[in-house]
Amino acid sequence: MARVALVTGGSRGIGEAISKALKDAGYQVAATYAGNDEAAAKFTEETGIKTYKWNVADYDESKAGLEQVEADLGPIDVVVANAGITRDAPFHKMSPEQWHQVIDTNLTGVFNTVHPVWPGMRERKFGRIIVISSINGQKGQFGQVNYAATKAGDLGIIKSLAQEGARAGITANAICPGYIATEMVMAVPEKVRESIIGGIPAGRLGEPEEIARCVVFLASDDAGFINGSTISANGAQHVV
Ligand code: NDP
Repeated sequence: MARVALVTGGSRGIGEAISKALKDAGYQVAATYAGNDEAAAKFTEETGIKTYKWNVADYDESKAGLEQVEADLGPIDVVVANAGITRDAPFHKMSPEQWHQVIDTNLTGVFNTVHPVWPGMRERKFGRIIVISSINGQKGQFGQVNYAATKAGDLGIIKSLAQEGARAGITANAICPGYIATEMVMAVPEKVRESIIGGIPAGRLGEPEEIARCVVFLASDDAGFINGSTISANGAQHVV
């Protein structure tokens, strides 16, 4: 039986590339999204991958959604916690609302996605947790106190989960992408984009598929001894 992989925010951007790459690698894939019905419908039409709509910031919605995926496809073996948002502002202008929106989606969203499937993974003695963090969680970023806190928090989550899951055959790892050519980055004014690219030693943005291939590797049996690790994929922009 093909393993089952769940990708949150899996119908657009980096998540879309991850969903497709996992499908190509032989997984049964479920992709979630928050509200962009049009993009999700187009994605399903093009790929045949089923999408599910729920808010990762809500525990009960996540639990019910994950149960539905398991009823449709079988127990979830691979979780890719990819859904994320930005609400940027310099700290002195950042509102409590901007803080909470990003914490609830990017950080609590990882808890809400992993916690309901964790007991099943422990029982079955297999699981792969892959969290899409960010270079800005490693180095911080002007205007992103909220976002950087969540992405640094992801690294604490996977390092702790790795220790708790190791004897149960579960690995938990993170990928820290640098700037990747998704709608989010392509929407930045060209001049700003040029200056971003100027700061990347590789001289280019990353492609979503380059992150997706890291996910496929971390999900594989070959990566069974890699646990609590972080893959930095950023064109040599920041090395840790
Ligand atoms: P996009 O904005 O292109 O896509 C985000 C996805 O997350 C969408 O599918 C969206 O759903 C979903 N989503 C957002 N909020 C929620 C929510 N509350 N509940 C459920 N789903 C939600 O993002 P990217 O592809 O650019 O980024 C993907 C991940 O990679 C994020 O975690 C981001 O922080 C991280 N990252 C991105 C980088 C980049 O350069 N792009 C660099 C480093 C890290 P919907 O389609 O319905 O809106």
